[in-house]
Amino acid sequence: MDKLIITAALCGSVPTRQQNPHVPYSPQEIAEEALRCWRAGASVVHVHVRDPQSGAPAFERHLFAEVVERLRAESDVIINLTTSAFNLEADDPGQARLMPVDLGPDLCSLDVGSLNFRGRVFSNPPDWVERAAAYMLEKGVKPEMEAFEVGHVVQASDLVAKGLIASPPWFQLCLGIAWGAPADLDSLLALKARLPVGAQWSVLGTGASQLPLTTHAMLMGGHVRVGFEDNLYLSRGVKADSNARFVERAVALAGLLQRPVASCAEARQILGLPGREPQRA
Ligand code: MG
Repeated sequence: MDKLIITAALCGSVPTRQQNPHVPYSPQEIAEEALRCWRAGASVVHVHVRDPQSGAPAFERHLFAEVVERLRAESDVIINLTTSAFNLEADDPGQARLMPVDLGPDLCSLDVGSLNFRGRVFSNPPDWVERAAAYMLEKGVKPEMEAFEVGHVVQASDLVAKGLIASPPWFQLCLGIAWGAPADLDSLLALKARLPVGAQWSVLGTGASQLPLTTHAMLMGGHVRVGFEDNLYLSRGVKADSNARFVERAVALAGLLQRPVASCAEARQILGLPGREPQRA
């Protein structure tokens, strides 16, 4: 089994401070949370940005750029920027969605299929997905392919077969989003069974499923994603005061299960990413 890659998904676009007062909004707050998670043992941080005042979902270049700059200055953490914006107003919304690729991250999320995502359609048309994969390949940014359904894994395998994905393919198996694959072991096994040969994969579970599903992933040789984007509670009624609490718990659990946790350098090796100078914590 490879060492365990822990991803911290810091704020997403949905959770609010009304739900948990510790959700970071400004680039500085997001970067500080990322660094706390990195010090706690996360090797990857998954970044969305927010309007610094209202916390509304945002997609401004300068907000992403500030987070990247702050993290690069102080850490060797692997930076994963989202490309899952929707309803962007631009001449070419498909290209506008790929703006984070131009900011020099290590990874960008790539949603390989469409689904009903709670109350809306999360639209990722096949032509956009291929264009996005080709653009990331050209820019040397590895996609983290987010799969919410078995069909998404099959579609991702098609991208791999077309030579659009650098080896090894890297997946985030997303469980518990209404109305994607439910957050249970049967779903996880179904998605895992369809992964292309040689794939590396991580698991996220929403809400109370975060702990059991990430535990399954650790035991099965997968990697894990934790944090506020998927879950605000450490246990019933107990809100986490930082994303780092989830990382600390994942590190402790991995220790109990005797699954060593990957450093950033080791995670880079596992994911086939170029190295960076390690920074001191
Ligand atoms: Mg995301």
